[in-house]
Amino acid sequence: MSLYKTEGIVLRARNLGEADKALTLYTREEGKVQVAAVGARRSRSPLAAATQPFTHGFMLCFRGRGLDRLSQFEIREPFAGIRGDLAKSAYATYFSELTDEFTRERDRNPDVFLALLAAQHMLQAGSDAEVVTRLFELRLLTLAGLRPELERCAGCGRAVAPGGTGAEGRGAGAWNLGGFSVAAGGVLCPDCAASDPTALAVPPGAVESARFLLAADLRRAAALKLSAPVARALEDMLSAYILHHLEKPLKSLSFLREVRGG
Ligand SMILES: [Zn+2]
Repeated sequence: MSLYKTEGIVLRARNLGEADKALTLYTREEGKVQVAAVGARRSRSPLAAATQPFTHGFMLCFRGRGLDRLSQFEIREPFAGIRGDLAKSAYATYFSELTDEFTRERDRNPDVFLALLAAQHMLQAGSDAEVVTRLFELRLLTLAGLRPELERCAGCGRAVAPGGTGAEGRGAGAWNLGGFSVAAGGVLCPDCAASDPTALAVPPGAVESARFLLAADLRRAAALKLSAPVARALEDMLSAYILHHLEKPLKSLSFLREVRGG
């Protein structure tokens, strides 16, 4: 058996046998890994406190033939401020499930680890949870190679912008934005939207906000203020896009909507 040390976040913990837990971790060095935490459900186990969802720390694992085995877990940040708050827990559970769904085991991507860690810190610190969620969705999609096309029409390639071609007669500053198509993978110009019955209507503000979230540094992105209609449109656009790629609804999302009350 070989030993490795890694920094990671607990995405998921489930019971294994009588006293053990199976953990899904997202680690900086190894990507997503599954480990067995033997005895972690015994109250006196040194692993008991560490093996909770959202916990960030440094771990020592044995690589075995079956499931790797967690040997030590040194907690760096327990994220008690998330675990002690039902709404924040619901958001963080959604981040964990998204990370789990959009990554493969042992497919190392330190930026995924950093994006998740940053999202949990922003959530715990009290940033607007909806903005943090949109930011995390966009960053994760980008890291998974699924960044939606937001600059050019996903149908014909023309630039989609204020006063862009095809916006004639709509007044100065009007956008030549026809909608958003999950199947085409991004925004559409009015001509392409007209021939795509599945195109979602989206206000320019939703596209502009998504572009800003992808371009801005984290601190400025997390401070973004969205009007209610733009926030809702951006959420619907990204939810539809994510659902299209996963081909199944996320359990944590229905719980999140319940907790949020709408
Ligand atoms: Zn087009």
